[in-house]
Amino acid sequence: MMRRPLALLLSLALAFPVHAYDLPDLGDVAATELSPAAERRIGEQIISQIRWRDASYLDDPEVEEYVNRIGHKLAAVSNNPGLEFDFFVVSDSTLNAFALPGGYIGVHTGLLLAAQTESEFASVLGHEIAHVTQRHIAQIVGKQSQSAMLMMASLLVAVLAARSNSDVSQAAIAAGQAGAIQSQLGYTRSFEREADRVGLETLENAGFDVRGMPGFFERLQRATRMYENNAPAYLRTHPLTTERIADMENRVNSMRYRQVVDSPDFNFSRAKLRANAGLATDAVRDMESQLAQAPADPAAGYGLARALFRAGRLDEAAQRLDAVRAKAPPSPWIETLRAEIALARKDGATAIKVLEAAMRSFPSNHALVYALANARILGGQPQAAVEGIRRALDSRQSDPRLWQLLSRAYADLGKVTAQHRAQAEVYRLRGSLPAAIEQLEIASRAGDGDFYELSAVDARLRELKQRLIEERRDRKD
Ligand SMILES: [Zn+2]
Repeated sequence: MMRRPLALLLSLALAFPVHAYDLPDLGDVAATELSPAAERRIGEQIISQIRWRDASYLDDPEVEEYVNRIGHKLAAVSNNPGLEFDFFVVSDSTLNAFALPGGYIGVHTGLLLAAQTESEFASVLGHEIAHVTQRHIAQIVGKQSQSAMLMMASLLVAVLAARSNSDVSQAAIAAGQAGAIQSQLGYTRSFEREADRVGLETLENAGFDVRGMPGFFERLQRATRMYENNAPAYLRTHPLTTERIADMENRVNSMRYRQVVDSPDFNFSRAKLRANAGLATDAVRDMESQLAQAPADPAAGYGLARALFRAGRLDEAAQRLDAVRAKAPPSPWIETLRAEIALARKDGATAIKVLEAAMRSFPSNHALVYALANARILGGQPQAAVEGIRRALDSRQSDPRLWQLLSRAYADLGKVTAQHRAQAEVYRLRGSLPAAIEQLEIASRAGDGDFYELSAVDARLRELKQRLIEERRDRKD
């Protein structure tokens, strides 16, 4: 009865080296149904652990923003466009993508690199989105009694504890048990068929080339034969059959043929991942051969410039990038790298100028907001950084990167109260209320805040303390 959800939770835990003891707060998960709100809450807690503590979480705002753009483009035309989605990237060369409860979808860098077209990449996202819109996770977790859920949660904690502990044998035992249980997991065949069907419709609605789906899955299947018993993780949780591929092909044949050009961002994000992989010297060689194959491709030139930058060859990187920039259409990827190179040369003024101009050309690009704030801090303009970050926060209150930058900018200005008040929000958003409360206590004692600021700190402190009491009570129930 409780094997499936246990496997689900354990597989969530095992998908990552999450070194954490905080168990997902299952709150008022009812005995009969996992409500969308409860599902979102479980997902939120897992994702905050991943972002905060998992070394393989890819903290790259440019690539994350790209994956979110594609994901949201698909989600907006799915059969349930009102659902919330968040996409994130895991630095892992294996082929995998997975949906956590609550619409959090993770993508391995290996999958993004293995896709030959943007439509292929989108097809996997479409399939994952369909698992969420069809509420497959809720159905798997669903119908369990609350005590079973709590038992699973404590087992999950045991596994996490074993993983973060240096006692290898204990970790191996826990992992072995979990592995045995994990093999029970996998969406059922009917869930897979449904996700294929619904995902394909979404792919078509979003204007992608629908042939990307059977094409990519067929290549995945071929790759699986080479792996023999060690199939890619994706295929272990999404069992792929010849029948599934034949179904997809039949559907695609009745759809309209569409030639779709990959977006520049698809190519730039892949070039960045390749340039950042492995040893810098190997990456330079890899990107040189990429560029030799496609000398006119701006992304290939950008990738080589980034690999050279990584290898510390700043002059060559700058020259290469200038050559790309002279011919390519304007691109935020190119401007961000120009600024990074300038910062590495301790030329903050140029970095700021480059990014301010780029912001005017690409006002909706969040990665530029972070890069500009960082350049202003490093370039000795913390007050300008504060102003820019505060403007961005108006519409993105729950963005921990912005709060982190704000805290750094205030620290440079010597504003201790404001610094710790911002840091408190970073911890809150990363799921650690005790650490957030501690920061607010430091802020209230710092002695450099005015009356209004201190009142705001106290109000926030009371609010978070109350929330902590409620969370602890929920866990005891
Ligand atoms: Zn699936």
